[in-house]
Amino acid sequence: METMEKAAVNVTEASVTGRMSTFNHEQLVFCQDNETGLRSIIAIHNTTLGPAVGGTRMWAYGTEEEAMTDALRLSRGMTYKNALAGLNIGGGKAVIIGDARKQKSEALMRRFGKFVNSCGGKYITAEDVGISTRDMEYVRLETKHVVGLPEYLGGSGDPSPVTAYGVYMGMKASQKELSGNDSLAGKKVVVQGVGHVGEYLVEHLVKEGADVTICDIYDDRVNAVVKKHGVKAVDAKDVYDIPMDIYSPCALGATINDDTLDRLKCSIVCGAANNQLKDEELHGQEVLKRGILYAPDYLVNAGGIINCYWEIVGYNRNAALAQAEGIYQTALNIFQISKTNSIPTYLAANQLAEARIASIAKLKATM
Ligand code: NAD
Repeated sequence: METMEKAAVNVTEASVTGRMSTFNHEQLVFCQDNETGLRSIIAIHNTTLGPAVGGTRMWAYGTEEEAMTDALRLSRGMTYKNALAGLNIGGGKAVIIGDARKQKSEALMRRFGKFVNSCGGKYITAEDVGISTRDMEYVRLETKHVVGLPEYLGGSGDPSPVTAYGVYMGMKASQKELSGNDSLAGKKVVVQGVGHVGEYLVEHLVKEGADVTICDIYDDRVNAVVKKHGVKAVDAKDVYDIPMDIYSPCALGATINDDTLDRLKCSIVCGAANNQLKDEELHGQEVLKRGILYAPDYLVNAGGIINCYWEIVGYNRNAALAQAEGIYQTALNIFQISKTNSIPTYLAANQLAEARIASIAKLKATM
């Protein structure tokens, strides 16, 4: 049936609607404005659970094709993340094509805000790479469909404490899965990157009596965290070679790759960084093969979006933290699916997210 409809309108895999149909995207909104030079794409992947929520990224994409691919990929990722976190929101993402250091202006951001507003609340935006709090202030002047705003604008402020708490919960669940006991006391945990999330995570770990080692590319960050929390430090380039129980990537993505997997001697990977598996399929399978328990990044770092969600429904930090605590049980459910079906944990996470969306779609169809 689907194939016949596609054929009737000559939809090819290379066409825009053909590309959208690959992962069943609902809507792509192309925005263009000669006055400000704005060129932007808003991608709405799935709104079964609620309005599509996801940040706006400004990047100097080489081509429009690249920008569209990123918007499609990232918005789909948000659908899975929001669904798995148990939030009543769907997945979306916006990209603005351009160099964030050179091409941004107040007028451009306000024009973008008008485009977001024209979606009528079906897409709710937030900050992402290349977009600052100041930019969001401009967007906010044109639309109320913005989250992740600073407290002085009535927003929820820094999400990092909630993100760190979710990562901590994911780590405890991973430990429980491995040993039957979720205590991290005495466990050698290496936190790579002690920025906003990393430092809050260190605080939880130290409180629980974990044996914490940190690294960062900035000496001042390392010195400040070592001094404040009494932890050890390792040079950033040696981080994959020291003995550890738990590796917690809280800086960059793609740190689980062919090179690091040969060096890492940990039994758990659990951290805040996005896209930790360089090649999801390949390295997701590889960690499973090597007996390393990988807590899916998009589950354990969902505290940020949980914080934003509570901004939509009426902000309450304690409610956000309580919801982030749910990451513990979701992680255990994922580990169970992974074991039962002998599949990598990232795949088990995807299946759980898809099952939730399918069940709500079915429910809606009967209402
Ligand atoms: P941040 O920029 O505050 O901190 C990152 C830290 O990592 C910095 O101190 C930086 O110097 C350090 N770093 C960079 N490269 C490094 C390297 N090669 N080795 C060691 N340290 C390095 O960022 P953050 O807000 O703490 O977020 C950390 C990660 O978690 C990012 O990947 C981010 O996308 C992700 N994340 C954050 C949130 C949140 O709420 N802040 C939510 C979801 C995901």
